[in-house]
Amino acid sequence: MIIRNVKLDIVCGVTSRLPDTGKPEIAFAGKSNVGKSSLINTLMNRKALARTSSSPGKTQTINFYLVNGAVSTDQPAGDENNPDGSLTDASMYLVDLPGYGYASVSETVKESWGRMIERYLRSSKNLRAVFLLIDIRHEPSGNDRMMYEWILSQGYQPIVIATKADKLKRSQIQKQVRLIRAGLDMKPGSVIFPFSATSRLGRDDVWNCIDTLVLQ
Ligand code: GDP
Repeated sequence: MIIRNVKLDIVCGVTSRLPDTGKPEIAFAGKSNVGKSSLINTLMNRKALARTSSSPGKTQTINFYLVNGAVSTDQPAGDENNPDGSLTDASMYLVDLPGYGYASVSETVKESWGRMIERYLRSSKNLRAVFLLIDIRHEPSGNDRMMYEWILSQGYQPIVIATKADKLKRSQIQKQVRLIRAGLDMKPGSVIFPFSATSRLGRDDVWNCIDTLVLQ
């Protein structure tokens, strides 16, 4: 993806109407603190456009980040960002779903959170795929497994991103990827991308995957 511009375009609260954006949407789910904001910022080449509040209960919104929304003039051949013309600068949304797993949040908040995500997964006409983020150092939790199953049951094959890969030695990465695969009982052939917001490991792979989904 060639990123020409990005902005936080739409914020939906529990009672907001969900938008029909008319553009491809790629959503990101994961436990709070897994590195979701950092991943979205890294994808967008921004330091702090996406941010999470450290206090639980304040992040119950779905945030729609518009990528390449502003009209760009057609780039002539030889565009410096894209010398071989192989990349797209399609207009699309990265959708930040609220993080789960705050132990201290009340059942009422958990319920409204669940309903909001469910409503989005059910009703979006433009959702192309859901990425599920798992910390590469840990085995998937019960909540992670529930989220994985939930995404599947809504008709999407979750694409897993194993975050904070810089915290491991290279030799440990594949071992942890196998653990996550087993923990989520993933089908053979389904994808896990090791990722690091610090070293930017995996950024190109994730974008290539998104490009394919957006151009379908
Ligand atoms: P979110 O709650 O899922 O949005 O998580 P954040 O993106 O806010 O990250 C939570 C914490 O993990 C922050 O302290 C980040 O600096 C840290 N973090 C996120 N991604 C990475 C990463 O790739 N590598 C390392 N070492 N730390 C990370």
